[in-house]
Amino acid sequence: MQPDIMTIVSEYNLEINPRTANKIQVEAKCPFCHGDANKRRKYKFSINAEMHVFRCWLCNASGYVYDLEAHLSNKPYEEVRKKYTKRKLRKAEKLSPKQLEKIEKRHLKVDYEAFKQQFTQIEKEWDDYCLGQKRLLLSKILLGHVLNLDMMSAIYAQVESSEVPNLYSEVIHEYLHIEITKKSWAIEARASVKSLLQDYQSENEHTLVAVLLIRHYKQVGRLQQ
Ligand SMILES: [Zn+2]
Repeated sequence: MQPDIMTIVSEYNLEINPRTANKIQVEAKCPFCHGDANKRRKYKFSINAEMHVFRCWLCNASGYVYDLEAHLSNKPYEEVRKKYTKRKLRKAEKLSPKQLEKIEKRHLKVDYEAFKQQFTQIEKEWDDYCLGQKRLLLSKILLGHVLNLDMMSAIYAQVESSEVPNLYSEVIHEYLHIEITKKSWAIEARASVKSLLQDYQSENEHTLVAVLLIRHYKQVGRLQQ
């Protein structure tokens, strides 16, 4: 729902020229510069009641109804706009503070404009982070399986802290159905495990393989253990 500029004008008691009250072009006293405040019968603030825009002929303040309400209510423009528009949120905006922390972008949330500038970058970094977490988790599961190592605590620690939604179920699905789904991150994780295993065949080097592989993926996913 779009706000009516004349509703805002009357809500904040802007003084209007009575002779223009029912016209499309309404004249009023400027709430920005107050340059015409003490001048009788002088109204330098022009409002278009149909297009919901305004302009002051003294200070050049101009804008849409949202700008006027933001100024009169002393609220940020975005807050006013959001009151009236239920737009679809970008993926970056849906990320929780904890999720943003994982990609070191939480600090951006305090300044909406700066945050907005980085939507694309944030979304890319979040996708990369999720992929890294999936590869890392699948590697741990595979290592646990192939080398008969107890990886459960490392697996749980990652699942608990990663902030990636459905991480465990998605990775387990790939672990069980790799031949069917063929997700590139899963194929990649399997290939890494395989090539490392080929390099380190002997029994006592199994732990080393696990350490190396985890180190390899640590650059993209944080490991608690
Ligand atoms: Zn003005």
